[in-house]
Amino acid sequence: MSTIELPENEAFRAEAREWLTAQLEGPFTHVRYRGGPGEEDEVFEERVDWEKAMGAAGWTGISWPKKYGGRAATLDQQVIFYQEYARAGGPGRVGHIGEGLVAPTILAFGTEEQKQRFLPGIKNGTELWCQGYSEPAAGSDLANVQTRARREGNEWIIDGQKVWTSLAHKAGWCFVIAKTEPDAPRYRNLSFLLVEMDQPGVTIKPIIQLTGTSEFNEVFFDGAKTPAENVVGAPGQGWKVAMGLLAFERGASTLGQQIGFENEFKEILAAAKDNGIAKDPVMRQKLAQAWIELQLVRLNAVTNLEEGETRPGLAAVNKICWATWHRDAGELAMEIMGADAEICAGAPYALTRFQSRFLFSRSDTIYGGTNEIQRNIIAEQALGLPREPRP
Ligand SMILES: Cc1cc2nc3c(=O)[nH]c(=O)nc-3n(C[C@H](O)[C@H](O)[C@H](O)COP(=O)(O)OP(=O)(O)OC[C@H]3O[C@@H](n4cnc5c(N)ncnc54)[C@H](O)[C@@H]3O)c2cc1C
Repeated sequence: MSTIELPENEAFRAEAREWLTAQLEGPFTHVRYRGGPGEEDEVFEERVDWEKAMGAAGWTGISWPKKYGGRAATLDQQVIFYQEYARAGGPGRVGHIGEGLVAPTILAFGTEEQKQRFLPGIKNGTELWCQGYSEPAAGSDLANVQTRARREGNEWIIDGQKVWTSLAHKAGWCFVIAKTEPDAPRYRNLSFLLVEMDQPGVTIKPIIQLTGTSEFNEVFFDGAKTPAENVVGAPGQGWKVAMGLLAFERGASTLGQQIGFENEFKEILAAAKDNGIAKDPVMRQKLAQAWIELQLVRLNAVTNLEEGETRPGLAAVNKICWATWHRDAGELAMEIMGADAEICAGAPYALTRFQSRFLFSRSDTIYGGTNEIQRNIIAEQALGLPREPRP
Protein backbone atom coordinates (compact mmCIF):
# COMPACT_ATOMS: atom_id res chain seq x y z
CA MET A 1 0.00 0.00 0.00
CA SER A 2 1.44 3.40 -0.93
CA THR A 3 1.39 6.06 1.78
CA ILE A 4 -1.19 7.95 -0.28
CA GLU A 5 -3.72 5.24 0.64
CA LEU A 6 -3.20 5.50 4.41
CA PRO A 7 -6.50 5.93 6.30
CA GLU A 8 -5.73 9.53 7.30
CA ASN A 9 -5.04 10.37 3.67
CA GLU A 10 -8.23 8.65 2.54
CA ALA A 11 -10.17 10.76 5.05
CA PHE A 12 -8.48 13.87 3.66
CA ARG A 13 -9.40 12.76 0.12
CA ALA A 14 -13.03 12.23 1.11
CA GLU A 15 -13.20 15.70 2.69
CA ALA A 16 -11.65 17.38 -0.35
CA ARG A 17 -13.83 15.45 -2.80
CA GLU A 18 -17.00 16.26 -0.89
CA TRP A 19 -16.30 19.99 -0.78
CA LEU A 20 -15.07 20.27 -4.38
CA THR A 21 -17.98 18.26 -5.75
CA ALA A 22 -20.56 20.21 -3.77
CA GLN A 23 -19.13 23.53 -4.99
CA LEU A 24 -18.30 22.68 -8.59
CA GLU A 25 -21.55 20.88 -9.22
CA GLY A 26 -23.39 23.55 -7.21
CA PRO A 27 -22.77 27.32 -6.98
CA PHE A 28 -19.55 27.25 -9.03
CA THR A 29 -20.65 25.05 -11.96
CA HIS A 30 -19.96 28.00 -14.30
CA VAL A 31 -16.21 27.94 -13.57
CA ARG A 32 -15.77 24.17 -14.03
CA TYR A 33 -12.92 23.35 -16.44
CA ARG A 34 -12.56 27.07 -17.31
CA GLY A 35 -9.55 29.38 -17.37
CA GLY A 36 -6.76 26.89 -18.09
CA PRO A 37 -3.62 27.68 -20.13
CA GLY A 38 -4.50 29.97 -23.03
CA GLU A 39 -7.89 30.78 -21.47
CA GLU A 40 -6.62 33.12 -18.77
CA ASP A 41 -9.31 35.78 -19.42
CA GLU A 42 -12.23 33.36 -19.10
CA VAL A 43 -14.71 34.04 -16.28
CA PHE A 44 -11.98 35.92 -14.43
CA GLU A 45 -14.12 37.65 -11.82
CA GLU A 46 -16.00 34.42 -11.17
CA ARG A 47 -12.68 32.66 -10.62
CA VAL A 48 -11.71 35.38 -8.12
CA ASP A 49 -14.93 34.51 -6.26
CA TRP A 50 -13.93 30.86 -6.47
CA GLU A 51 -10.54 31.75 -4.95
CA LYS A 52 -12.32 33.48 -2.06
CA ALA A 53 -14.64 30.50 -1.53
CA MET A 54 -11.67 28.13 -1.46
CA GLY A 55 -9.91 30.38 1.04
CA ALA A 56 -12.93 30.63 3.31
CA ALA A 57 -13.26 26.85 3.35
CA GLY A 58 -9.54 26.34 4.09
CA TRP A 59 -8.54 24.97 0.68
CA THR A 60 -5.91 27.57 -0.22
CA GLY A 61 -2.40 27.51 1.24
CA ILE A 62 -3.00 23.94 2.38
CA SER A 63 0.73 23.25 2.79
CA TRP A 64 1.30 26.34 4.98
CA PRO A 65 1.74 26.00 8.73
CA LYS A 66 -1.54 26.04 10.67
CA LYS A 67 -0.35 29.19 12.45
CA TYR A 68 -0.77 31.09 9.17
CA GLY A 69 -4.11 29.60 8.21
CA GLY A 70 -2.79 26.52 6.40
CA ARG A 71 -3.46 22.84 7.04
CA ALA A 72 0.21 21.78 7.20
CA ALA A 73 -0.79 19.27 4.50
CA THR A 74 1.79 16.57 3.74
CA LEU A 75 3.07 16.02 0.22
CA ASP A 76 0.70 13.04 -0.16
CA GLN A 77 -2.20 15.26 0.85
CA GLN A 78 -1.19 17.98 -1.59
CA VAL A 79 -1.09 15.40 -4.40
CA ILE A 80 -4.49 14.09 -3.28
CA PHE A 81 -5.96 17.58 -3.24
CA TYR A 82 -4.77 18.33 -6.76
CA GLN A 83 -6.01 14.95 -7.99
CA GLU A 84 -9.43 15.71 -6.58
CA TYR A 85 -9.29 19.28 -7.93
CA ALA A 86 -8.60 17.94 -11.44
CA ARG A 87 -11.22 15.21 -11.11
CA ALA A 88 -13.86 17.76 -10.10
CA GLY A 89 -12.90 20.08 -13.00
CA GLY A 90 -11.51 22.88 -10.80
CA PRO A 91 -10.79 26.06 -12.83
CA GLY A 92 -7.38 27.64 -13.56
CA ARG A 93 -6.28 29.35 -10.35
CA VAL A 94 -6.03 33.15 -10.49
CA GLY A 95 -4.21 33.23 -7.15
CA HIS A 96 -1.38 30.89 -8.09
CA ILE A 97 1.37 33.54 -8.18
CA GLY A 98 0.48 34.59 -4.65
CA GLU A 99 -0.11 31.15 -3.23
CA GLY A 100 2.55 29.23 -5.13
CA LEU A 101 5.36 31.78 -5.45
CA VAL A 102 5.34 34.71 -3.07
CA ALA A 103 3.70 33.04 -0.06
CA PRO A 104 6.32 30.28 0.34
CA THR A 105 9.00 32.94 -0.19
CA ILE A 106 7.58 35.15 2.56
CA LEU A 107 7.24 32.07 4.79
CA ALA A 108 10.90 31.19 4.17
CA PHE A 109 12.55 34.62 4.14
CA GLY A 110 10.00 37.15 5.43
CA THR A 111 9.63 38.84 8.80
CA GLU A 112 6.79 37.95 11.14
CA GLU A 113 5.17 41.31 10.28
CA GLN A 114 5.32 40.50 6.55
CA LYS A 115 3.72 37.09 7.18
CA GLN A 116 0.92 38.70 9.19
CA ARG A 117 0.41 41.44 6.60
CA PHE A 118 0.55 39.50 3.33
CA LEU A 119 -0.43 35.87 3.90
CA PRO A 120 -4.11 36.49 4.81
CA GLY A 121 -4.82 38.40 1.55
CA ILE A 122 -3.29 35.56 -0.47
CA LYS A 123 -5.15 32.94 1.48
CA ASN A 124 -8.51 34.73 1.28
CA GLY A 125 -8.15 35.55 -2.42
CA THR A 126 -8.51 39.28 -1.79
CA GLU A 127 -5.00 40.25 -2.95
CA LEU A 128 -3.66 38.95 -6.27
CA TRP A 129 0.06 39.12 -7.08
CA CYS A 130 2.34 39.41 -10.09
CA GLN A 131 6.02 38.70 -10.63
CA GLY A 132 8.33 41.60 -11.51
CA TYR A 133 11.47 39.75 -12.55
CA SER A 134 12.02 39.97 -16.33
CA GLU A 135 13.14 43.13 -18.10
CA PRO A 136 13.95 43.91 -21.74
CA ALA A 137 17.64 43.04 -21.09
CA ALA A 138 17.18 40.64 -18.18
CA GLY A 139 15.32 37.39 -18.81
CA SER A 140 17.60 34.38 -18.70
CA ASP A 141 20.30 36.71 -17.41
CA LEU A 142 18.12 37.82 -14.53
CA ALA A 143 20.98 39.28 -12.49
CA ASN A 144 21.25 42.01 -15.12
CA VAL A 145 18.07 43.81 -13.95
CA GLN A 146 18.31 47.57 -14.39
CA THR A 147 15.27 48.62 -12.35
CA ARG A 148 16.61 50.67 -9.47
CA ALA A 149 15.28 51.43 -6.02
CA ARG A 150 16.72 54.01 -3.63
CA ARG A 151 15.92 54.65 0.01
CA GLU A 152 14.39 58.03 0.81
CA GLY A 153 13.37 58.30 4.44
CA ASN A 154 11.01 55.47 5.22
CA GLU A 155 10.39 54.52 1.61
CA TRP A 156 11.92 52.86 -1.41
CA ILE A 157 11.56 54.88 -4.63
CA ILE A 158 11.52 52.63 -7.71
CA ASP A 159 12.35 53.47 -11.34
CA GLY A 160 12.59 51.06 -14.25
CA GLN A 161 10.71 48.69 -16.52
CA LYS A 162 9.56 45.10 -16.21
CA VAL A 163 8.17 43.03 -19.07
CA TRP A 164 6.12 39.85 -19.61
CA THR A 165 4.50 40.48 -16.22
CA SER A 166 1.64 37.99 -16.03
CA LEU A 167 -1.58 39.28 -14.45
CA ALA A 168 -0.08 42.73 -13.72
CA HIS A 169 -3.35 44.23 -15.00
CA LYS A 170 -5.30 42.31 -12.35
CA ALA A 171 -2.85 42.16 -9.47
CA GLY A 172 -2.89 44.38 -6.39
CA TRP A 173 0.75 43.67 -5.57
CA CYS A 174 3.98 42.88 -7.38
CA PHE A 175 7.26 41.43 -6.11
CA VAL A 176 10.01 43.38 -7.80
CA ILE A 177 13.70 42.62 -8.10
CA ALA A 178 15.51 45.94 -8.15
CA LYS A 179 19.08 47.15 -7.93
CA THR A 180 19.46 48.86 -4.57
CA GLU A 181 23.23 48.62 -4.00
CA PRO A 182 24.77 50.07 -7.20
CA ASP A 183 28.33 49.75 -5.89
CA ALA A 184 28.07 46.15 -4.72
CA PRO A 185 29.21 43.25 -6.96
CA ARG A 186 26.78 41.28 -9.17
CA TYR A 187 24.41 39.05 -7.15
CA ARG A 188 24.87 41.22 -4.03
CA ASN A 189 23.38 44.41 -5.44
CA LEU A 190 19.69 43.48 -5.58
CA SER A 191 16.69 43.59 -3.25
CA PHE A 192 13.34 41.81 -3.32
CA LEU A 193 10.62 44.44 -2.84
CA LEU A 194 6.86 44.10 -2.37
CA VAL A 195 5.15 46.92 -4.25
CA GLU A 196 1.51 47.97 -4.44
CA MET A 197 0.35 48.28 -8.07
CA ASP A 198 -2.45 50.82 -7.67
CA GLN A 199 -0.38 54.00 -7.34
CA PRO A 200 0.58 56.95 -9.57
CA GLY A 201 4.14 55.69 -10.25
CA VAL A 202 3.02 52.43 -11.85
CA THR A 203 1.88 52.16 -15.49
CA ILE A 204 0.71 48.89 -17.00
CA LYS A 205 0.58 48.26 -20.74
CA PRO A 206 -0.91 44.94 -21.91
CA ILE A 207 0.92 42.91 -24.56
CA ILE A 208 -1.25 41.02 -27.05
CA GLN A 209 -0.19 37.38 -27.18
CA LEU A 210 -0.44 34.69 -29.86
CA THR A 211 -3.72 33.63 -28.32
CA GLY A 212 -5.17 37.10 -28.98
CA THR A 213 -5.45 37.72 -25.22
CA SER A 214 -3.21 39.73 -22.90
CA GLU A 215 -2.13 37.56 -20.03
CA PHE A 216 1.09 39.53 -19.64
CA ASN A 217 2.13 43.18 -19.68
CA GLU A 218 4.86 45.76 -19.67
CA VAL A 219 5.09 47.48 -16.28
CA PHE A 220 6.76 50.87 -15.86
CA PHE A 221 7.89 52.22 -12.48
CA ASP A 222 8.38 55.98 -12.45
CA GLY A 223 9.06 57.02 -8.89
CA ALA A 224 6.79 54.28 -7.53
CA LYS A 225 6.94 53.97 -3.76
CA THR A 226 6.87 51.23 -1.20
CA PRO A 227 7.45 51.39 2.58
CA ALA A 228 10.99 50.58 3.75
CA GLU A 229 9.81 47.46 5.58
CA ASN A 230 8.53 45.88 2.33
CA VAL A 231 11.89 44.33 1.52
CA VAL A 232 12.06 40.55 1.88
CA GLY A 233 15.44 39.52 3.30
CA ALA A 234 17.95 42.29 3.86
CA PRO A 235 18.74 44.90 1.19
CA GLY A 236 21.36 43.34 -1.09
CA GLN A 237 20.06 39.80 -0.47
CA GLY A 238 17.54 39.98 -3.30
CA TRP A 239 19.32 37.40 -5.46
CA LYS A 240 19.16 34.77 -2.72
CA VAL A 241 15.46 35.45 -2.13
CA ALA A 242 14.74 35.55 -5.88
CA MET A 243 16.43 32.16 -6.38
CA GLY A 244 14.49 30.76 -3.41
CA LEU A 245 11.29 31.86 -5.13
CA LEU A 246 12.37 30.27 -8.41
CA ALA A 247 12.90 26.96 -6.59
CA PHE A 248 9.27 27.18 -5.41
CA GLU A 249 8.19 28.13 -8.93
CA ARG A 250 9.92 25.07 -10.41
CA GLY A 251 8.76 22.85 -7.54
CA ALA A 252 5.43 22.62 -5.77
CA SER A 253 3.78 25.56 -7.54
CA THR A 254 3.15 23.59 -10.74
CA LEU A 255 2.05 20.34 -9.10
CA GLY A 256 -1.63 21.17 -9.46
CA GLN A 257 -1.17 22.22 -13.08
CA GLN A 258 0.70 19.01 -13.88
CA ILE A 259 -1.92 16.81 -12.27
CA GLY A 260 -4.51 18.77 -14.27
CA PHE A 261 -2.76 17.73 -17.51
CA GLU A 262 -4.62 14.43 -17.13
CA ASN A 263 -7.84 16.25 -18.06
CA GLU A 264 -6.19 17.80 -21.11
CA PHE A 265 -4.93 14.38 -22.18
CA LYS A 266 -8.41 12.91 -21.82
CA GLU A 267 -9.80 15.64 -24.09
CA ILE A 268 -7.13 14.93 -26.72
CA LEU A 269 -7.83 11.20 -26.53
CA ALA A 270 -11.59 11.75 -26.83
CA ALA A 271 -11.07 13.98 -29.89
CA ALA A 272 -8.89 11.31 -31.54
CA LYS A 273 -11.53 8.66 -30.92
CA ASP A 274 -14.32 10.97 -32.12
CA ASN A 275 -12.81 11.80 -35.48
CA GLY A 276 -11.55 8.26 -36.09
CA ILE A 277 -7.84 9.11 -36.23
CA ALA A 278 -7.24 6.97 -33.13
CA LYS A 279 -7.47 3.95 -35.47
CA ASP A 280 -4.37 5.09 -37.31
CA PRO A 281 -1.45 2.96 -36.07
CA VAL A 282 0.99 5.89 -35.94
CA MET A 283 -1.49 8.05 -34.01
CA ARG A 284 -2.18 5.18 -31.57
CA GLN A 285 1.55 5.04 -30.94
CA LYS A 286 1.73 8.80 -30.36
CA LEU A 287 -1.20 8.77 -27.94
CA ALA A 288 0.28 5.87 -25.99
CA GLN A 289 3.63 7.65 -25.88
CA ALA A 290 2.01 10.87 -24.62
CA TRP A 291 0.25 8.93 -21.87
CA ILE A 292 3.50 7.19 -20.83
CA GLU A 293 5.30 10.53 -20.71
CA LEU A 294 2.48 12.04 -18.66
CA GLN A 295 3.00 9.32 -16.03
CA LEU A 296 6.71 10.18 -16.00
CA VAL A 297 5.95 13.89 -15.64
CA ARG A 298 3.90 13.16 -12.54
CA LEU A 299 6.51 10.83 -11.11
CA ASN A 300 9.16 13.48 -11.69
CA ALA A 301 7.07 16.16 -10.02
CA VAL A 302 6.67 14.14 -6.85
CA THR A 303 10.32 12.96 -6.80
CA ASN A 304 11.39 16.58 -7.18
CA LEU A 305 9.29 17.60 -4.19
CA GLU A 306 10.59 14.70 -2.10
CA GLU A 307 14.26 14.94 -3.05
CA GLY A 308 14.75 18.23 -4.89
CA GLU A 309 16.53 19.95 -2.03
CA THR A 310 19.17 17.22 -1.80
CA ARG A 311 19.53 16.39 -5.50
CA PRO A 312 20.77 19.38 -7.49
CA GLY A 313 19.29 19.69 -10.95
CA LEU A 314 16.11 17.77 -10.19
CA ALA A 315 13.90 20.87 -10.30
CA ALA A 316 15.37 21.67 -13.73
CA VAL A 317 14.61 18.13 -14.95
CA ASN A 318 11.06 18.54 -13.68
CA LYS A 319 10.63 21.90 -15.45
CA ILE A 320 11.91 20.52 -18.77
CA CYS A 321 9.72 17.41 -18.50
CA TRP A 322 6.39 19.05 -17.80
CA ALA A 323 6.93 22.04 -20.08
CA THR A 324 8.01 19.89 -23.02
CA TRP A 325 5.18 17.43 -22.44
CA HIS A 326 2.61 20.19 -22.44
CA ARG A 327 4.02 21.87 -25.53
CA ASP A 328 4.07 18.53 -27.38
CA ALA A 329 0.52 17.74 -26.23
CA GLY A 330 -0.58 21.01 -27.84
CA GLU A 331 0.97 19.89 -31.12
CA LEU A 332 -0.61 16.44 -30.86
CA ALA A 333 -4.06 18.00 -30.44
CA MET A 334 -3.47 20.07 -33.58
CA GLU A 335 -2.43 16.97 -35.51
CA ILE A 336 -5.60 15.20 -34.44
CA MET A 337 -7.73 18.11 -35.64
CA GLY A 338 -6.06 17.92 -39.06
CA ALA A 339 -6.96 20.75 -41.44
CA ASP A 340 -9.59 22.07 -38.97
CA ALA A 341 -6.74 23.06 -36.68
CA GLU A 342 -5.86 25.86 -39.09
CA ILE A 343 -9.30 27.47 -39.21
CA CYS A 344 -10.53 30.00 -36.62
CA ALA A 345 -13.79 29.08 -34.93
CA GLY A 346 -15.16 32.55 -35.75
CA ALA A 347 -14.23 36.09 -36.75
CA PRO A 348 -12.04 37.91 -36.05
CA TYR A 349 -9.91 35.54 -33.97
CA ALA A 350 -12.04 33.09 -32.02
CA LEU A 351 -9.89 30.12 -31.17
CA THR A 352 -10.98 26.65 -30.14
CA ARG A 353 -9.74 25.31 -26.85
CA PHE A 354 -7.12 23.14 -28.59
CA GLN A 355 -5.91 26.07 -30.68
CA SER A 356 -5.45 28.46 -27.75
CA ARG A 357 -3.77 25.75 -25.69
CA PHE A 358 -1.46 24.92 -28.58
CA LEU A 359 -0.46 28.56 -28.98
CA PHE A 360 -0.11 29.26 -25.27
CA SER A 361 1.88 26.09 -24.62
CA ARG A 362 4.66 27.40 -26.88
CA SER A 363 5.51 29.55 -23.84
CA ASP A 364 5.80 26.66 -21.37
CA THR A 365 9.41 26.02 -22.32
CA ILE A 366 10.20 29.74 -21.88
CA TYR A 367 8.60 31.10 -18.70
CA GLY A 368 9.99 30.07 -15.33
CA GLY A 369 13.35 29.62 -17.10
CA THR A 370 13.81 28.31 -20.65
CA ASN A 371 14.68 24.70 -21.49
CA GLU A 372 18.18 25.84 -22.47
CA ILE A 373 18.72 27.46 -19.09
CA GLN A 374 17.44 24.31 -17.32
CA ARG A 375 19.94 22.26 -19.35
CA ASN A 376 22.73 24.59 -18.23
CA ILE A 377 21.65 24.05 -14.62
CA ILE A 378 21.59 20.26 -15.09
CA ALA A 379 24.99 20.31 -16.79
CA GLU A 380 26.63 22.39 -14.12
CA GLN A 381 24.83 21.46 -10.91
CA ALA A 382 23.94 17.81 -11.46
CA LEU A 383 26.70 16.62 -13.78
CA GLY A 384 29.54 18.88 -12.69
CA LEU A 385 30.38 19.86 -16.27
CA PRO A 386 32.54 22.96 -16.83
CA ARG A 387 30.69 26.23 -16.31
CA GLU A 388 29.72 28.06 -19.47
CA PRO A 389 31.43 31.44 -19.89
CA ARG A 390 29.62 34.18 -17.91
CA PRO A 391 29.62 37.87 -18.78
C1 LIG B 1 3.75 33.33 -21.02
C2 LIG B 1 4.87 33.97 -20.28
C3 LIG B 1 4.64 34.49 -19.03
C4 LIG B 1 5.68 35.12 -18.35
N1 LIG B 1 5.39 35.68 -17.13
C5 LIG B 1 6.39 36.35 -16.48
C6 LIG B 1 6.09 37.01 -15.26
O1 LIG B 1 4.97 36.98 -14.75
N2 LIG B 1 7.07 37.72 -14.66
C7 LIG B 1 8.35 37.77 -15.17
O2 LIG B 1 9.18 38.39 -14.55
N3 LIG B 1 8.65 37.16 -16.34
C8 LIG B 1 7.70 36.46 -17.01
N4 LIG B 1 7.98 35.85 -18.22
C9 LIG B 1 9.30 36.03 -18.79
C10 LIG B 1 10.18 34.81 -18.79
O3 LIG B 1 10.64 34.52 -17.49
C11 LIG B 1 11.32 35.06 -19.77
O4 LIG B 1 10.75 35.13 -21.07
C12 LIG B 1 12.37 33.98 -19.73
O5 LIG B 1 13.08 34.00 -18.53
C13 LIG B 1 13.39 34.12 -20.91
O6 LIG B 1 13.90 35.40 -20.94
P1 LIG B 1 13.85 36.29 -22.29
O7 LIG B 1 12.46 36.25 -22.82
O8 LIG B 1 14.45 37.61 -21.97
O9 LIG B 1 14.76 35.49 -23.32
P2 LIG B 1 16.34 35.54 -23.41
O10 LIG B 1 16.92 35.39 -22.05
O11 LIG B 1 16.73 36.74 -24.21
O12 LIG B 1 16.64 34.23 -24.23
C14 LIG B 1 16.46 34.14 -25.65
C15 LIG B 1 16.90 32.75 -26.09
O13 LIG B 1 18.30 32.55 -25.78
C16 LIG B 1 18.49 31.40 -24.97
N5 LIG B 1 19.55 31.65 -23.99
C17 LIG B 1 19.70 32.76 -23.21
N6 LIG B 1 20.77 32.62 -22.42
C18 LIG B 1 21.30 31.39 -22.67
C19 LIG B 1 22.41 30.68 -22.14
N7 LIG B 1 23.18 31.19 -21.20
N8 LIG B 1 22.64 29.42 -22.63
C20 LIG B 1 21.85 28.88 -23.61
N9 LIG B 1 20.78 29.53 -24.15
C21 LIG B 1 20.51 30.77 -23.68
C22 LIG B 1 17.15 31.20 -24.27
O14 LIG B 1 16.98 29.84 -23.87
C23 LIG B 1 16.16 31.62 -25.35
O15 LIG B 1 15.93 30.56 -26.24
C24 LIG B 1 6.97 35.21 -18.92
C25 LIG B 1 7.21 34.65 -20.18
C26 LIG B 1 6.17 34.05 -20.86
C27 LIG B 1 6.48 33.49 -22.22
